[in-house]
Amino acid sequence: MGGGFGGLAAARALAGAPVRITLVDRRNHHVFQPLLYQVATAGLAAPDIAAPIRHILRSQRNAAVILAEVTGFDLRRQKVTLADGELDYEFAVVAAGAGHSYFGHGDWARHAPGLKTMEDAVEVRRRVLLAFEHAERQEDEAIQREWLTFVVIGGGPTGVELAGALTEIARHTLRGEFRRIQPRSARVILVEGTDRVLPPYHPELSDKARRQLERLGVEVRTGTLVTGVDGAGVQLGDERIAARTVLWAAGVAASPLGRMLGACDRAGRLQVEPDLTVPDHPEVFVAGDLAAVTQAGKPVPGVAPAATQMGRHAARNIIRMLEGQPRRRFIYKDKGSLATIGRKAAVAEIGSLRMSGLLAWLAWLGIHIFFLIGFRNRAVVMFEWALAYLTYARSARIVLGPPEVDAP
Ligand SMILES: Cc1cc2nc3c(=O)[nH]c(=O)nc-3n(C[C@H](O)[C@H](O)[C@H](O)COP(=O)(O)OP(=O)(O)OC[C@H]3O[C@@H](n4cnc5c(N)ncnc54)[C@H](O)[C@@H]3O)c2cc1C
Repeated sequence: MGGGFGGLAAARALAGAPVRITLVDRRNHHVFQPLLYQVATAGLAAPDIAAPIRHILRSQRNAAVILAEVTGFDLRRQKVTLADGELDYEFAVVAAGAGHSYFGHGDWARHAPGLKTMEDAVEVRRRVLLAFEHAERQEDEAIQREWLTFVVIGGGPTGVELAGALTEIARHTLRGEFRRIQPRSARVILVEGTDRVLPPYHPELSDKARRQLERLGVEVRTGTLVTGVDGAGVQLGDERIAARTVLWAAGVAASPLGRMLGACDRAGRLQVEPDLTVPDHPEVFVAGDLAAVTQAGKPVPGVAPAATQMGRHAARNIIRMLEGQPRRRFIYKDKGSLATIGRKAAVAEIGSLRMSGLLAWLAWLGIHIFFLIGFRNRAVVMFEWALAYLTYARSARIVLGPPEVDAP
């Protein structure tokens, strides 16, 4: 279940095994989430970072793909319930990923879209580009300023990437295209609740990331909690920021499927056994963002390499069970973390090695192109990035849908 990093890795690792695989996803495509912010900021088009799951698995004869929504499980009868039917299984791998958490303020979602799916990215892009259009048509200067104020909530990698890209759009991409407004006068404010951006990174890199963001023109507000979000701005305790575009990059909540399988942590991730199985159900594995796994006292992070490793591990354990061998515990191999901030600005932490600036940015570019699925996507992204580097152009600036900004 799930054609993301975890589910695809599991299906592929079972390619040579004597099994029949059914991969179920409610969308027809796999999304390379690490580049979603590029779609959200018009740098890349949706098909550049996604591929039909059916196409990815086309040569794997033992795998079939079903487009359907998983709604529940009957663990005793070994059945998966779909919105429009059910499936039997001998082994199951659940890798349904995560969505947003608005920390109990579900009403904020309407005003501050998050970034998890392709639909989210297209909606963020729509709002960002329309904000400049609305500003251009405003006579009232105060309202014009509101349209030119962008607030990004959450100073993790996604918030940092979004904020950096927004300043680049305002300062460079839109230069010379408007007559009434100066896009470069736009304010981009990044709000983070803890005392530094990129909290999972070493404090030295957080500090460098902050400085790189400020150099790009982002106003960074750390140690600041958002207490309200509405259609006209955000409330930060006693302070009000009037802004028509608010983006959410703060909370993550695992798929609701986790709670249907057993005990979960606060983020809704299922507490799995060390071999990634569901307690008392050795035939059901959980992989990726949906699995709560602790190693050496630290939680395994919700990142693509962890999901891929878990998916592969679940597949290997299934093969071991078929061969009558005992299952093995999962061991996460941390290959490091990278976060980009903007042009020639990024941070990287690989073991005890810490890098920032141009070198980290080049590493980020290379790794993301390498791990993208499909030759076409790699070629197109490389071309788009080279063009963007030379011209600051963002080629995916077509807005579809109505000009109103707050979705009903
Ligand atoms: C904006 C963003 C930026 C990121 N940047 C990075 C990064 O730079 N580096 C990094 O390593 N990680 C990054 N991550 C995290 C990484 O993408 C995730 O850890 C990874 O995608 C998790 O893989 P997964 O297989 O668990 O879930 P996903 O990749 O989310 O896949 C889940 C799949 O399950 C399907 N699904 C969900 N529910 C159902 C259902 N009920 N029925 C049927 N199908 C269902 C979904 O459609 C989806 O295809 C980022 C994530 C986001 C959102």
